[in-house]
Amino acid sequence: MDLELRDKAILISGGAAGIGGAISAACAAEGAVPIILDRNEEVARAFAAQLRSVGHRCELILLDLKTSDDCRLAVEDALRLCGRIDALVNNAGINDSVGLEHGNPERFAASVHSNLMHYYALAHYALPALKLTSGSIVNIASKVALTGQGNTSGYAAAKGAQLALTREWAVELLPLGIRVNAIVPAEVMTPLYRQWIATFPEPDEKLKSIERTVPLGHRLTTPEEIAATAVFLLSPRSSHTTGQQLHVDGGYVHLDRAL
Ligand code: NAP
Repeated sequence: MDLELRDKAILISGGAAGIGGAISAACAAEGAVPIILDRNEEVARAFAAQLRSVGHRCELILLDLKTSDDCRLAVEDALRLCGRIDALVNNAGINDSVGLEHGNPERFAASVHSNLMHYYALAHYALPALKLTSGSIVNIASKVALTGQGNTSGYAAAKGAQLALTREWAVELLPLGIRVNAIVPAEVMTPLYRQWIATFPEPDEKLKSIERTVPLGHRLTTPEEIAATAVFLLSPRSSHTTGQQLHVDGGYVHLDRAL
């Protein structure tokens, strides 16, 4: 199936590694131009070089999305590089363990800010460009918004807000024909996930115990499986899909985990 993404300029935050990296690669494979926005310079440069070495196009913006000004500059850079923005993937984020007991209000606010503010600010600053292309937005959320995890209040609050904003923006942008959807991953093997597993005393055992809880296939989701859903949501092939939360998680959130 032709996803009709050829030559589309797609801005992807955290687009150089993990889930964002897989989305960038899937967009490039469809002939789109991923505009990879990432703070990890070494990883991002190597990733862009690898995409280009196999004949794909991509653009790179090296930036840590800390303030709304960073987000405004990123959008300006994207427009300077590509002249248009057809879609935005809000993906950069980090599960930073700011808990209720082991945390404080200041760290909570900082965690919500670092996981949420750039989702809003990138969408806000990209909106004039998205209006011109009747573009679409995909927000990468997390099952933590729905299941909780414990000891991660800031991240959970930000992920819950991303789901709320997906519905809110889908409604606000209906008259403009701009679709907004969320993907809700659960357990996906990425560099961040690898770092987290390594914090347990027996990482291999911990990983096996998590895999056992995933109903479909008793394995983690791959970043490529998230990316396949993302390119569908970004493409005009999903032209009547908006305001949705797609769970790409092997049934983790909705099916019986005791199976
Ligand atoms: P990852 O492996 O850390 O990759 C994310 C990339 O984004 C990294 O290159 C990272 O750079 C970059 N990045 C992070 N914050 C940034 C910022 N403020 N500005 C610019 N670049 C930034 O992460 P992932 O596991 O793919 O997670 C991606 C998204 O999926 C996150 O929103 C996460 O909450 C969500 N998610 C993941 C899982 C999972 O199981 N992996 C499950 C549910 C939801 P650094 O290397 O410098 O950090």
